[in-house]
Amino acid sequence: MKKDGKGSIVNTNEYQIGKTHMGCFDTGEDLLEGIERFAADRNIRVARITVIGAVRTAVVAYYDQTVREYQEVTFGEPMEILGCLGNLSLKEGKPIAHLHAVFGDSQGQTRGGHVRPGTDVFFAEVIIEELEGPELHRGYDPVTGLPAWEL
Ligand code: ZN
Repeated sequence: MKKDGKGSIVNTNEYQIGKTHMGCFDTGEDLLEGIERFAADRNIRVARITVIGAVRTAVVAYYDQTVREYQEVTFGEPMEILGCLGNLSLKEGKPIAHLHAVFGDSQGQTRGGHVRPGTDVFFAEVIIEELEGPELHRGYDPVTGLPAWEL
C-alpha cells in the first residue's frame, strides 16, 4: 500500500522480543483455533508464530483480489506442514492468528494458503515468540478489503 507515494513500508510499530513458547499440539487440535486459544489463555497479544508438523486434513483460503472474497479449499488427506508462518494481533479485542502454510503430500507436491479453521493437526511443533510493545489491532482496509493492521 502506497500511503506516502513511495511504496515503502510505512507506519511501523517497534517491538522487543519477549518470552518464547515452544510446544507440541495434541492430535486432533485445530491449527488456527489452538494457537488463538493458547494466546487468549496466556494473554499473548502480539507475537510471531512458526509451526512445522503434519495434518490429517487442511482448510486454507485464497483471497480473490478482484471480488475481494476468500475462496476456501479443503485438502482432505494427511500432509506434512512444511512451513507455517504467521503473526498474532488483536481483532475486536481478541488475539487473532494470521497464518499461511505450505503443505506437502505423499508425492512431495506442495499446496497451501491462508490457514482457516478446520485444519486438523496430527502432530505439530509450535514456536510463539511474544513481542513487547504497542497493541496491534486489525480493522477494515478499504484499499484491499482486508482486515489490515491499524498502524
Ligand atoms: Zn492471509
